[in-house]
Amino acid sequence: MSFKSGFVTIIGKPNSGKSTLLNALLGEKITIITPKAQTTRHRIKGILTTKNYQIVFSDTPGIIDPKYGLHKSMMKAVNESLEDADVILFLLDATKDLSEAEEIAKQYGEINIPSITAINKTDAIDEKNLAAILESAQKNFPKSKVISISALKKLNLDVLLNEIISKLPEQPAFFSEDDLTDRSERFIVSELIREKIFEQFHQEIPYSTEVAIQEWKEEKEITKIRADIMVERESQKAILLGNKGSAIKQLGIEARKSIEEFLKKKIFLGLTVKVNAGWRNSDRMLKYFGYEK
Ligand code: GDP
Ligand code: MG
Repeated sequence: MSFKSGFVTIIGKPNSGKSTLLNALLGEKITIITPKAQTTRHRIKGILTTKNYQIVFSDTPGIIDPKYGLHKSMMKAVNESLEDADVILFLLDATKDLSEAEEIAKQYGEINIPSITAINKTDAIDEKNLAAILESAQKNFPKSKVISISALKKLNLDVLLNEIISKLPEQPAFFSEDDLTDRSERFIVSELIREKIFEQFHQEIPYSTEVAIQEWKEEKEITKIRADIMVERESQKAILLGNKGSAIKQLGIEARKSIEEFLKKKIFLGLTVKVNAGWRNSDRMLKYFGYEK
C-alpha cells in the first residue's frame, strides 16, 4: 500500500468530546479538556503518523453563535479549517438532544467533502437507545458513514481510524514523523494554565480570562515560567486572587503540577493577574493573544 495522508477537521458542538477524541487518537495530552463548554478557542492541529499514513487532525472550537469579537474569531477558525480538509469528522454527543445533529447537518451537511459521523459518549447511554440515535444520525448525514464510539473509553476508535484512512488520498506526509502538533510548548503551557482556571473558577471568570506567557527561562534543573492572567475587571481580579491570595496560590500549585507532567521537568511558575477591560472585543488584544480577526 502506498502512503496516505491528509487533513481531517473535527466538527461538533462544544463539549461533544472533540478534544478528548484527539487526545485519545494521539495518545498525548495536546489539547486541554474540561467539562465546561468553549475551552477550545483556537484551531489546534494534532498529527498522527505511522509507517503507512499521516493524519493531520484539526480540533476546532465548538460551533456557537458569535457574540463577542472572540467568538467571531473562533468561528473563523472553524471555517478556515474546512477549506483544506480532506475529510470532515462530525462528532455528535449521544447523551444530548438529537436536534443538535440537525443543526450541524443544516449548517455543514451540504459541503462537498467526504465525511464521517461519529456518535460519541456511547458508553454513557442505554444500549437500546443507540439504534435510534444511529438511525437519526444517518438520516441527518445521508452521505456519511455513521460510527458509534467512546472517546473517553477508547471504544471503536480503530474502526473510526480505518474509515478515515480509507478516505485519505495517496500522497506523501506534510509533517515530519515526530511532529505531534503545530503548537509550541509555550502555547500548550498557557492552555494548561487556562485549563486549571476553568476547573477552579466559575460563572463568567473562565470566559473573561486569557493567559500570556511572559518569560520562559530554561535552567539546568528547572524551567522558570512567568505568565500573566488577563481579566476584564478589578472584581474578577479579586476573585482570581482570593482571600489573601489563597486562590491564585492554589491555581499556581495545580497548574505547576500539570505543566511539570507535560514538560517532564521541574518548573517554577509565577502568575500575575492583570486587568484589561474589554480584551474580548479588542482587535489589538485578540491579535496579541494570537487570535485572528
Ligand atoms: P470538546 O468541547 O468537544 O472539545 O469536548 P471535550 O473533549 O473537552 O469533552 C467534554 C466533556 O465530555 C469532558 O468532561 C469529557 O470527559 C467528556 N467526554 C468526552 N468524550 C466522552 C465519552 O466518550 N464518554 C463520556 N462519558 N464522556 C466523554
Ligand atoms: Mg475542545
